[in-house]
Amino acid sequence: MTVVVLLGAPGAGKGTQAPVLARALEVPVLASGDLLRAAVAAGTQLGREADRFMSRGQLVPDETIVRVFLDRLEKPDAREGAILDGFPRTRVQAEALDRALAEAGRTVDRTIFIDVQTEDLIKRMANRRICTANGHVYNLASNPPLNDEVCDIDGSPIVQRPDDNELTVRARMSEQLPPLLDVVDYYRQQGILQTVDGREPIADVSARMLRALGVAPGQVSV
Ligand code: AMP
Repeated sequence: MTVVVLLGAPGAGKGTQAPVLARALEVPVLASGDLLRAAVAAGTQLGREADRFMSRGQLVPDETIVRVFLDRLEKPDAREGAILDGFPRTRVQAEALDRALAEAGRTVDRTIFIDVQTEDLIKRMANRRICTANGHVYNLASNPPLNDEVCDIDGSPIVQRPDDNELTVRARMSEQLPPLLDVVDYYRQQGILQTVDGREPIADVSARMLRALGVAPGQVSV
């Protein structure tokens, strides 16, 4: 049973690195942003509520995301553990996660903070694209798809997220960085935080993260 929390500002590389770690540990990725985007696309009540916040770069209220995310964490595929991407994003969420795991006799095992400066993040996000089927992440400058228009993995169209425009990106930084740093502190105090420099090339960041999790380089093909 391994629960790993990936922490990082929007654009730090959580969505790129999460599948690498998931393959290595043989657990699923649970990405809060993907759950919310799926609800928006499906037009559910949750989607309509979440979209009001997402389109402004604000955090969805704790009460809503805690309910949705903890429900997802209880699904059978996460019984052996999971890589948590994008949750928790506030101290209230981190405490709710700890309580839910404790009830099941589980804990957060590791947290990795991918550290990148804000101005670098803003530049990166202008070039970020995701695929419409599964949210696979690309960057037109540093990690482009083989064909500009479709995903290498599932062939679905590649698009820019509506909240990746510069205005919303800046709003996301000012709204989301302070609570993120609070969560970083929360895990640092628990002694389960490791930090990696997210400015390095993708493969180097992956290697450092796998090392932080105690996975030997030969054990996986990334
Ligand atoms: P992401 O794909 O992780 O960048 O998330 C996209 C958007 O979904 C964020 O800008 C927030 O509006 C919302 N969101 C995702 N995860 C959370 C969370 N844990 N708490 C609150 N809002 C969230």
